[in-house]
Amino acid sequence: MIPVTTFSGKKVALFGLGGSGLATAQALVAGGAIVTAWDDNPDSVAKAAAAGIGTGDLHQADWADFSAFVLSPGVPLTHPKPHWTVDLAHAAGVEIIGDVELFVRERRAHAPGCPFIAITGTNGKSTTTALIAHILKSSGRDTQLGGNIGTAVMTLDPPAPDRFYVVECSSYQIDLAPTINPSAGILLNLTPDHLDRHGSMEHYADIKERLIAGSDTAIVGVDDVYTEAIADRATLAGQHVIRIARHRALGEGLFADGTRVMRAEGGLAAEIADLDGIATLRGSHNAQNAAAAIAACLSVGVSESEILAGLSSFPGLKHRMQPVGRKGSVVFVNDSKATNADAAAPALSSYERIYWIAGGLPKEGGITTLAPFFPKVAKAYLIGEAAPAFAATLGEAVAFEISGTLERAVAHAAADAASDTAELSAVMLSPACASFDQYKNFEVRGDAFVSHVAAIDGVTMLI
Ligand code: ADP
Repeated sequence: MIPVTTFSGKKVALFGLGGSGLATAQALVAGGAIVTAWDDNPDSVAKAAAAGIGTGDLHQADWADFSAFVLSPGVPLTHPKPHWTVDLAHAAGVEIIGDVELFVRERRAHAPGCPFIAITGTNGKSTTTALIAHILKSSGRDTQLGGNIGTAVMTLDPPAPDRFYVVECSSYQIDLAPTINPSAGILLNLTPDHLDRHGSMEHYADIKERLIAGSDTAIVGVDDVYTEAIADRATLAGQHVIRIARHRALGEGLFADGTRVMRAEGGLAAEIADLDGIATLRGSHNAQNAAAAIAACLSVGVSESEILAGLSSFPGLKHRMQPVGRKGSVVFVNDSKATNADAAAPALSSYERIYWIAGGLPKEGGITTLAPFFPKVAKAYLIGEAAPAFAATLGEAVAFEISGTLERAVAHAAADAASDTAELSAVMLSPACASFDQYKNFEVRGDAFVSHVAAIDGVTMLI
């Protein structure tokens, strides 16, 4: 745990006692802050009180006494409308921050030079974060991995000079981290997502830009118009910027050329890594992730040979284009994490013959942007609430059935793929939808896919 010493002896309000909120409250208490924590869910409040956290209804509190208000990133700060606690904090002039900001202040107070790599972007954050942490760890460095990836940042070990932090940041976390200043800040890409919580694409992009604006080295993917403009602004501001491209060559920076990652300086490019044969880094999207990871590792002093060793031993992440089973020439791929069309595109582009399981709770825009991949789809198996809309988009272009449930979709797709004569075909769950209409979250959906695959006669599981 990282005790929050920067609020020692001060009164702090905290709202949101789910996962990371409770850990943050405990870190504040451990550092000597006087915490008043609250949540709309009485069970969470009771759990916090049982853990020794001071609790109290923030409706009744005297906000003038608070030095800061710590908000859980899951609670609306601005959109669709500010949470009631946000209004009370604003009215009292109390600053509103989150757990990443507390970490940043502890690092500044106790080990300002310790390497801190922060990662954001619309897609690829977790893969890039895990890859960087893997490279650092496998080269023997003291590595702390956390943030949006599952381990609350305040549960990590306290900042120390030779300790490396790799922290995945959602836009919500950045919004609550006004002084974030990583040694290396990565912004991978920006496409519309979570706009219900950010109001507009411009606001969403502004928040993401803050992460790299405070970085010693700004590593920016320049494959979309928003991030390209952000990289240009950072350069103009005099920042050290490393550009990353996956669709074109660069004169300066790192770019993907097929499976090769090239590093260009002064217009001259040389290969720095080849991802060919690394099953967990298949596809040009992973070349972007790997290029960003390489740039970040180089910027904090990792050698090229250490980086190459880490890349080739990367175990990958569950639910992201994960090959989970095989039967003859059919591979079963769990890409449950693809919760929007942009995230599903890489998986669809990585295989040539696809039995595609899609659907769930639809996101704006549906699957229209995936039309270029439709010729690779042998048949689509539609599930969940999105099925009728997706059926309308597929129309005459792709054979499809409305399977309804994932179980039926897997069984039907496996049976159809079994008679496919292609050298390799994929039965792939890449839903382009959120899971909440049928599952608790994308992990549960992915696990369900794996268990349905495991039930197929004659399948060999790869995990
Ligand atoms: P995040 O943590 O940002 O949600 P993940 O690494 O978990 O990203 O990957 C989520 C999904 O996005 C995966 O299904 C993957 O196929 C896709 N993806 C991964 N990296 C990229 C990228 N660089 N660009 C676009 N899509 C990507």
